[in-house]
Amino acid sequence: MSKKDYLKDAKLSTRVINIGIDTDTAHGAVMPPIYLSSNYTFEGFGKKRTFDYARSGNPTREVVSEVIAELEGGIGAVMTASGMAAIDLLWQPLEKGNNRVVAPHDCYGGTQRQLNARAKQGLIDLVYVDQGDDAAVLKALSQPTAMLLIETPSNPLMRVVDLQKLIDLGHKAGAKVAVDNTFLSPALQNPIKFGADFVVHSTTKYINGHSDVIGGALVCTTAEDLTLYRWWANCVGSTAPAFDSYLTLRGVRTLFVRIKQQQQSAQAVAEYLESHPVVSKVFYPGLKSHPQHDLAARQQAGFGAMMSFELKGGLDAVKAVLDVVDLFSLAESLGGVESLIVHPASMTHAAMSPEAQATAGITGGLLRLSIGLEDADDLIKALARALSVV
Ligand SMILES: *Cc1c(COP(=O)(O)O)cnc(C)c1O
Repeated sequence: MSKKDYLKDAKLSTRVINIGIDTDTAHGAVMPPIYLSSNYTFEGFGKKRTFDYARSGNPTREVVSEVIAELEGGIGAVMTASGMAAIDLLWQPLEKGNNRVVAPHDCYGGTQRQLNARAKQGLIDLVYVDQGDDAAVLKALSQPTAMLLIETPSNPLMRVVDLQKLIDLGHKAGAKVAVDNTFLSPALQNPIKFGADFVVHSTTKYINGHSDVIGGALVCTTAEDLTLYRWWANCVGSTAPAFDSYLTLRGVRTLFVRIKQQQQSAQAVAEYLESHPVVSKVFYPGLKSHPQHDLAARQQAGFGAMMSFELKGGLDAVKAVLDVVDLFSLAESLGGVESLIVHPASMTHAAMSPEAQATAGITGGLLRLSIGLEDADDLIKALARALSVV
């Protein structure tokens, strides 16, 4: 059977392993080799090969882009040097007169910084909206819009918004719709199934999964957009390096098993925290108490491995816990094999004003966890030790 035939009915978890395997014609290498060369010879006068210069194209980057496009159900992906570079590509082709962008009021901090900077320059006309508020969304989309950006679940409070509803409303306003799918990964959520035109990723997080690469991806659904955004990535020089592409390819092969284990542990940790007397609230879509639990169950293939929780003792309790907590590293980022703990108000969301933090619901007593691949019992023991001091 040819590859194409036997993969037709294969699950995504099989295809993520299979793409690029056993394709090397030079030596029959099972794993696709890494190509570090910055340039490629022409066969002769006027005879360009597939690749000429590595900013525009690189075989290692091609394989990982194929995997990510396949995972998201897109027709291709542009691999970038960071998640922020992938998001910035979205705005590049917008032109005066059709550059209105509607974005979530609680989107990733780096995205907010970029959107604000691009708006200040006049590259985009920016509107923030609470995407969980139907009336506010309708109002924001009552004018012609070029791009609607969606992020779900939100960071750090894990608010879930209705992809189908928002994507349909975006299209009605004439917008293209892009979804930042970093928090769940394509193993748990596929926005293109709901009609999204683009999916963006910080591949730094679950897709690479080992906290050793900064990278991004922009997945497209039409050949026209893929050509356009590849052109822009080459034009501004934001394409992903070969070595990072190689590491990301190595990481993404295990995405499904990692996330399966991580979210199983996350559910156990969330239930433990919810029952703990010093914890006032736990924000995890897998809990029945989560306000969008049913929506998450409907549109996601799992609840993921990110959560946040609030300590009754506020900032003082947070300081005491962070002084003694072990096993969880006190660090930003997420989605790696190692568990992390973060204090959003002073770390990931420190750039937000106190008022903006209050509006977003980010209190001094809030902590965010990224659950890694350690044994769940050990993670719970570590939290029990840390919470015993307050
Ligand atoms: C980390 C992150 C980004 C930015 O990605 P980088 O790889 O750090 O540039 C964008 N969106 C979300 C949701 C993120 O978590």
